[in-house]
Amino acid sequence: MVGSTNMSREVLSVRGLTKRFGGLVAVDNLDLSVREGQICALIGPNGSGKTTVLNLITGVYKNDHGTVEFVGDHVQNLPPHSICWKGIARTFQNIRILSSQTVFQNALLGKGYGNGGVSILQTALNTRKYREATAACTDEVNGILDFVGLLDMKDEYARNLPYGKQRILEIARALITGPKLLLLDEPAAGLNSQEIHALMELIKRISDRGISILLIEHRMEIVGKLADWVFVLNHGAKIAEGTFDKVKEDPAVIRAYLGRGGR
Ligand code: ADP
Ligand code: MG
Repeated sequence: MVGSTNMSREVLSVRGLTKRFGGLVAVDNLDLSVREGQICALIGPNGSGKTTVLNLITGVYKNDHGTVEFVGDHVQNLPPHSICWKGIARTFQNIRILSSQTVFQNALLGKGYGNGGVSILQTALNTRKYREATAACTDEVNGILDFVGLLDMKDEYARNLPYGKQRILEIARALITGPKLLLLDEPAAGLNSQEIHALMELIKRISDRGISILLIEHRMEIVGKLADWVFVLNHGAKIAEGTFDKVKEDPAVIRAYLGRGGR
């Protein structure tokens, strides 16, 4: 909650962002900004367009209209790896780790998204390039694994990790890319209360490192505790923004949630 004055610099600036899937307007003329040091939350009922917003920011989908500026550069519709090199990293709503690779190898894959990094294939085949890249990055990867609390499990196969730790591993892989902005899509989904506590503590420590965060989350207690600023979507359009305490009292927000059966 600290370090989020309105005076800080805009890291991400989304203007008029629009995405249609056939006749459906999944994201509708959205304006949104994340400032340096902020933890922002993107909330809204199921199907309101939250994941699509992340997919547009990270270049997974091309937008129909609008601009995405990241520390002053236009990044809309660049390929995902270019956007990642610029400093935007993400995790996914459905976990995406390689279960038959070790924790270390999974984390190292974050480097594959960086310049001259290693690919999934090179990792799997243990090529010379993979071994050289591994040697060069070992300290860095170990440092991140230590930071997220997974260093003592670095040689475990990812499939042997409890689910909560697999989600943390995804965050580690995103951090390896050295982001200025981290986008998290429902990182607490499927976690027990102890794991959620650890996750929230980690998100705060990531923020303390100066990384701005845009978090999709449907558990209001998490949003209330973490977010400096909240954007609320309904049917792809922003219906409210402000502090959590303010938006949770907003009649339009309450109507949107009541009308869509939660989430
Ligand atoms: P949320 O993350 O808020 O639950 P999504 O962004 O996943 O919502 O989806 C918003 C809307 O866009 C939904 O109606 C969904 O069915 C639709 N949608 C998302 N991705 C696609 C796609 N690739 N093709 C067609 N429709 C999609
Ligand atoms: Mg989603």
